[in-house]
Amino acid sequence: MTSNPTPAHFAKAGPRIREFIVTPIAVVDPPLLNAAGLHAPYALRTILELITDDGISGISEIPGNRSTDEALEAAGKLLVGRDVFQLSEIRQVLTQNFGKETAAERGLTPWDQRKLVHIFSAVEVACLDIIGKVVGRPVVDLLGGRMRDRVPFAAYLFYKYKGAGGPLAFGTDPAATGWAAARQAEALTPAGIVAQAEAMCREFGFQSIKLKGGVFEPQQEVDAMFALREAFGPDVPLRIDPNAIWTLETALNYGKQLEPILEYLEDPVRGQENMATVRKALKTPLATNMCTTSFEDIPNSIALGSEDIILSDHHFWGGLRSSMTLAGICETFGRGLSMHSNSHLGISLAAMVHLGAALPQLTYALDTHYPWQSDEVITAGRFRFEEGSVAVPEGPGLGVELDREALAALHRNYLACGLTKRDDEIEMQKVQPGWRFQAVRW
Ligand SMILES: [Mg+2]
Repeated sequence: MTSNPTPAHFAKAGPRIREFIVTPIAVVDPPLLNAAGLHAPYALRTILELITDDGISGISEIPGNRSTDEALEAAGKLLVGRDVFQLSEIRQVLTQNFGKETAAERGLTPWDQRKLVHIFSAVEVACLDIIGKVVGRPVVDLLGGRMRDRVPFAAYLFYKYKGAGGPLAFGTDPAATGWAAARQAEALTPAGIVAQAEAMCREFGFQSIKLKGGVFEPQQEVDAMFALREAFGPDVPLRIDPNAIWTLETALNYGKQLEPILEYLEDPVRGQENMATVRKALKTPLATNMCTTSFEDIPNSIALGSEDIILSDHHFWGGLRSSMTLAGICETFGRGLSMHSNSHLGISLAAMVHLGAALPQLTYALDTHYPWQSDEVITAGRFRFEEGSVAVPEGPGLGVELDREALAALHRNYLACGLTKRDDEIEMQKVQPGWRFQAVRW
C-alpha cells in the first residue's frame, strides 16, 4: 500500500512568510590589513529572520551595508504572504522588482558590492531553514544530501596591527593567552605571520594555511610564505591571496618563485585575461573570488581559461542552491570549487558547513574568518573546530537558533559605531593619512 501525494496534498500551500525582520549588527573585528586597506573596529553583518504564519522562524546572515539593508526591507514588502517553498517564484518576484544586476556592479574591492545576490542569499537561506524545520531535515539534505559529516577549513592569516577591535578601537586584553593573545598581537613580518599561524593552528587544528597578501611589497609576502613552509613543512598546503593587486610581471616573477610551495595562488592579477596569461605560465593552480564571480562571468572564464578553482560564496552567488548549480558547472568544465569568506558569525558558518557537506567534490579546505571574530548571535555560542573541521550542525534546518539578547546587543553596537558600510580605505587613512586604494599596486 503506497500513499503517493494527491492533488489535495499539493493544494495545501506551505507556510507563508508573516514577518520579515532585518537587523543590522556590528561585531568586533581586529585591525586586519588587506589590499583595500584596514578592517574597522567593527564588521557589519545583517541578520534576517522570517517568521511564518504558523510561527516557524528561519534565519540567515549576510555582509552588512545600509543600502543592501534598505533593499532587503523593500524585498520584504514583496515577500510577506508568500509560501517559503516557492523559492523560484520568490526569486522571480525579486528579479522583476530589482532588475538584473551586472557582474561589473561587483566593484574593484576584494568583497562583492552587488545588492541583489545578497538579497537572494538572505531570503533563500532563511526559507531553507524554515523548510528544513517543516520537513524535519537539515539544510544539507535539501541540497542533495550529505557527502561528508565534517567540513574542513583553512587557517586564514592576516597582516595586522596590534589590537582586537571593538569599543576601545584597537583594544586589547593584557591577560589574554593562547589564540586570544595571538589574535590581538601585531603581525607585520614573516616571523609575526608564522607565530600567528602556529597559534591559530594550535587552537583550531587547521591543516591548510592561507595568507591574505596584497598588503606589502611582494618580496616581503613571498618571504612570509617561505617562512611558513619552513615552519610547517611540505605536508601543509599553503596559499596566498594578493587580491589582484599585482601587475602581470610581478605575478609571473613571484609566482615562479612560489611555484614549489603553493597549493594554489589566489587572484594574483586583475581580470580574466591577465589571470589566463599567468595561468598559462605557471604550474601552480590559480584560484579566484575576483575575476569569475557570477554566472555571467562563466562563458568568458571557460573561453580564456582564467582559473583552476572558483572560490564560491553563497552570499555572493545568490544562495545555497545557486552554489550547488555552480558546483555542477565547475565539474562540467574541470574547475575545482572551494569557498571564499568575509568576517562572519555562526549563522553564515552554519550555512557554509551545510553547503560544504553537500558539495559532491570538496578538494580544498574552505576559507573562514571565523577565528578572528569573538561575538556570536546564536544560542549555542561559538562553533567549535576539531582538527580544522566543523561538524554539520544537528537538528532540522540550519541547526542554529537566534540568540535574541545577543542580537539586540550587537544591534546596539551597530547604532553606536556609526558605520553604514565597509570602507577599509577610510579606516586605513586613520593610520596612514592620505593612503589610497589602488586596483593594481605592485
Ligand atoms: Mg580572495
